[in-house]
Amino acid sequence: MNDADTRAYWWPYLAILLATVVLGAVFYDLDAFEALHEFTRQHEDWELDELIPLALASIFGLIAALIVRSGQLRAQINRRKRLEAEANALARHDALTGLPNRRFFGERAKAMVSEAVKSGGKVAMFAIDLDRFKPINDIYGHAAGDHVLQIVADRITAELPAGALASRMGGDEFAVFLEIDDDPHRVERIARRITGRIGEPMEIDSRSFSVTASIGIAIYPSDGNEVHQLHTRADIAMYAAKSAGRDSFAYFEPSLGEKHRKRYELERELAGAIAEGQIVPYLQPVFDLKSGAMKGFEILSRWNHPTRGVLLPEEFIPLAEDSGQIVTLSDCVLRQACEAVAGWVPPLSYSFNISPLQFREPRLVERIVEILEQTGMRSGSLEVEITETVFIDDAERAKSIINELRANGISVALDDFGKGYSSLSLLSQLDIDKLKIDSSFIAGCSLGGRNEKIVNSVIQLGLSLGLETTAEGVDSTEDASWLAERGCALAQGFHYSEPMPVLSALNFFERNAGKIAAGEPVAVETVSGSKT
Ligand code: C2E
Ligand code: MG
Ligand code: MG
Repeated sequence: MNDADTRAYWWPYLAILLATVVLGAVFYDLDAFEALHEFTRQHEDWELDELIPLALASIFGLIAALIVRSGQLRAQINRRKRLEAEANALARHDALTGLPNRRFFGERAKAMVSEAVKSGGKVAMFAIDLDRFKPINDIYGHAAGDHVLQIVADRITAELPAGALASRMGGDEFAVFLEIDDDPHRVERIARRITGRIGEPMEIDSRSFSVTASIGIAIYPSDGNEVHQLHTRADIAMYAAKSAGRDSFAYFEPSLGEKHRKRYELERELAGAIAEGQIVPYLQPVFDLKSGAMKGFEILSRWNHPTRGVLLPEEFIPLAEDSGQIVTLSDCVLRQACEAVAGWVPPLSYSFNISPLQFREPRLVERIVEILEQTGMRSGSLEVEITETVFIDDAERAKSIINELRANGISVALDDFGKGYSSLSLLSQLDIDKLKIDSSFIAGCSLGGRNEKIVNSVIQLGLSLGLETTAEGVDSTEDASWLAERGCALAQGFHYSEPMPVLSALNFFERNAGKIAAGEPVAVETVSGSKT
């Protein structure tokens, strides 16, 4: 209880005591009791001796009522104070994680910078953002998402040194402010510990989740003197960490500002580009290695950018993934491709790449099937290409999606095999139709060396598991013949044809329709400039 409370509690008692003393003194001074005695004696018929105890009892009752009332007032004051304190804490803290919120963080960070200005010390600001958190909410629900955020908040706090300040800035964004000394590696060690700790698996409702985080670091005084400037720069560094592959950290550098601006502009442009149909499918033919017959096409996205020319997927697919636009982009490209090729006779096989992020999309298979139905494309003509990453995210879910795709007549290929984990135990558990050997092993495989051995054993592995193999990136006759001799079934690459716009592919198809239908070798004609 503070001084004001104590005063509020005691004043009624004090007032009563004072009044009693003053009244007593006055009575004493005026011989009041004797006067009263004389008065009652003279008026015995009034029965004052009975009225006086009644009056005294009333006075005691009044005193008791005053005491009770003052107690009630005291309780009311305390309750109001407690509610005020709670409201204050709520206004300063994030309700979900209990961490200081953005406003409170700003106030305290400002104070830390002022301290550093006085002492000549240094302060580091971390901008921490979870990588691809949104799909967790979408698939597993907001309760699971909230739980993940609480665990992440606890993990960040657990890795911070005393005196450091952590905050939830909103959504899946956190921030840390900490004093640093002259040890140049300390900040780095803390950032590494935080990403490492966040990345550890977490168990929620007997499901295992894993999330990673990217951290951007800005330092006072070298990167700015104001909290908001440090925040902006830490954010820019955080985007650089994301671009460099996520699950890591990056320091702010002035050159990052320009890169960030460009990326931000491109991200904004991308939404418009999808809506305006600037993202289009290109088609790269796939050939039977033995007969030379054409078997189908791989659908590859290109951005017909109004000022920068034709952009490759590496420039916009990661951007679409990070900004939550991959599902819309993918639907749009698949729809255009299906509309274009659905009527081509004879029907071939068309393969389409699906980002691992799309495996977290609740309606993935439903959407694909819907597009096939709406465009009149046979489901047996579509093959979906996935990468091993989908099994690291959530193997059970990936398996059930594969089964669902196949149940709908869509075949499944494992793309870029050899580049990732290439787990044999995984292969034995999966119901897939094809292995695509990554192009990094194919170039010069016929010349001997390690690539020859690797490619040879992947082909044999495919044969023994009853899976067709496709060699990607075949760019010489020697490699093509060598692959055919080893039993590799299919090939695509610049040796045959670069990816081409839909119209060029249609021309090529129409010129060769007879041979394609008869399964005869198709003469290769490289369409120039279609690489980009
Ligand atoms: P990918 O699925 O492995 O596609 C094969 C890539 O190899 C294509 O690159 C193709 O142009 C390139 N390529 C083909 N033949 C040769 C060759 O002889 N030599 C060399 N060096 N490269 C060759 P592209 O079109 O740049 O696509 C790159 C990656 O982007 C694709 O790799 C795929 O993973 C992804 N991608 C493309 N379109 C989409 C899409 O619509 N959605 C998603 N999620 N990913 C896509
Ligand atoms: Mg592919
Ligand atoms: Mg590939």
